[in-house]
Amino acid sequence: MSKKVTLVGAGLVGSLLSIYLAKRGYNVNVFERRPDMRKTKGYAGKSINLALSDRGLRGLEGVGIADEIRKIAIPMYGRFLHYQDGTTGYQPYGKEGQAINSVSRAGINMMLMDLAETLPNVKFNFEERCTGVDSVKGVSSFVNESTQAQTTINSDLIFGSDGAFSAARLSAMLGHDRFEYNQFYIEAGYKELVIPAGPNGEFLIEKNALHIWPRKSFMMIALPNIDGTFTCTLFMPFTGENSFEKLKTREEVKEFFDRVFPDAVPLMPTLLDDFMTNPTASLVTVKCFPWTFDDKLALIGDAAHAIVPFYGQGMNCGFEDCVVLNELIDKHKENWPAILNEYQILRKPDGDAVADLAIGNFTEMRDKTADPKFHLQKKIEAWFSEKHPDKWVPQYSMVTYRPDIRYSYALKRGKEQDEIMQKVMAAVPGIEEKWDTPEVEKLILQHL
Ligand SMILES: Cc1cc2nc3c(=O)[nH]c(=O)nc-3n(C[C@H](O)[C@H](O)[C@H](O)COP(=O)(O)OP(=O)(O)OC[C@H]3O[C@@H](n4cnc5c(N)ncnc54)[C@H](O)[C@@H]3O)c2cc1C
Repeated sequence: MSKKVTLVGAGLVGSLLSIYLAKRGYNVNVFERRPDMRKTKGYAGKSINLALSDRGLRGLEGVGIADEIRKIAIPMYGRFLHYQDGTTGYQPYGKEGQAINSVSRAGINMMLMDLAETLPNVKFNFEERCTGVDSVKGVSSFVNESTQAQTTINSDLIFGSDGAFSAARLSAMLGHDRFEYNQFYIEAGYKELVIPAGPNGEFLIEKNALHIWPRKSFMMIALPNIDGTFTCTLFMPFTGENSFEKLKTREEVKEFFDRVFPDAVPLMPTLLDDFMTNPTASLVTVKCFPWTFDDKLALIGDAAHAIVPFYGQGMNCGFEDCVVLNELIDKHKENWPAILNEYQILRKPDGDAVADLAIGNFTEMRDKTADPKFHLQKKIEAWFSEKHPDKWVPQYSMVTYRPDIRYSYALKRGKEQDEIMQKVMAAVPGIEEKWDTPEVEKLILQHL
């Protein structure tokens, strides 16, 4: 079918979606506010690298690019914990061999755009900022960031893949009655820092892990890059006792890092310059409904469901949106009103669920990962799940390794499992010594 499709935003999700639609024969025109990142150097906003897991990989497999992306990915098999007293710990993410993958945001985005451009029916237009969408008429408006020239485009379908602060969503909100919108910021912001590679390009800390420095109300994490560096992210409240507002001078930053991250400081020679130069960014959650309008406009990716990054699922969820949409095109044989209607009915509960999971994982990462009871719980769950894989899948595994399980189910089932674990751990005195005994196994089975 030679429908004309306009995509607003050539980020991760828009670029992937352009390939799915073009492969089906649609004529796809993508409009991106920024210059072409393949021709300009520099920071593409948000994080430098991201964790890609099985839901995202499934999205990439659907367009045949997963193996290429795996080549630029570093598997991380668990959390490597750095405690304030200088000791360290390790917590595997799943069963042996299961990993999440650290990938460069720009790397994956550029590979998707390159692949899209091999198809004759995709065209990228850069420095074109969307200023509005009329979903009734199927018209989207753009202004060129360099020339200020204005363009209006007619199309049969429009996708708003323009991220957390979507202009397409704002237009739809202003033009439609009863649009539900909920946006909130968490108290923490983030700042990216770096651990450079060693003198011979080697990794200075464990390569195949996601590093966490949990400090209760704040934390630092580090993900590896293929050049031997680690991108560190400090997540911390904007105000209060340990907060960005308290770190205004180089002296304050130095005193703080020496005190709270003593093992990281020697690895971060450019810390003070980076801290003073790099931006401090905020973290937003957006929940809204509907996601589709007048059978012509649909929101996808962060535009529909912006979430905080603590479960490493924002991009993965956006890629899964593309997979679901693609399946629905098959199911409804290109009947777009039916496709769009089912898309939002199916995906909205999952978008809400992954937003809640992500908020919950902030507490888990910054606080619980330093708690021995939490480690014990995870150990028991992994052991029990190994014995009874049909009865128990840890929540982290459901979210990260099981694209066949919906986020909404993972959230609900995870809560139930957590309640069971709290009861079992309270009921067995000295469980630390007998966590893998028939007594504990029987007790869990009784609660199921
Ligand atoms: C610090 C941080 C760490 C993260 N880590 C992870 C992770 O480990 N794993 C994971 O899965 N997710 C992670 N995420 C989430 C992930 O970055 C997003 O979910 C993902 O980028 C969403 O892709 P998108 O294409 O929907 O939006 P975006 O990537 O934001 O792309 C939107 C595009 O639209 C363009 N645009 C915006 N407005 C307009 C306009 N008016 N006109 C035209 N174009 C426009 C933008 O320039 C951009 O290119 C993280 C996010 C943050 C902030």
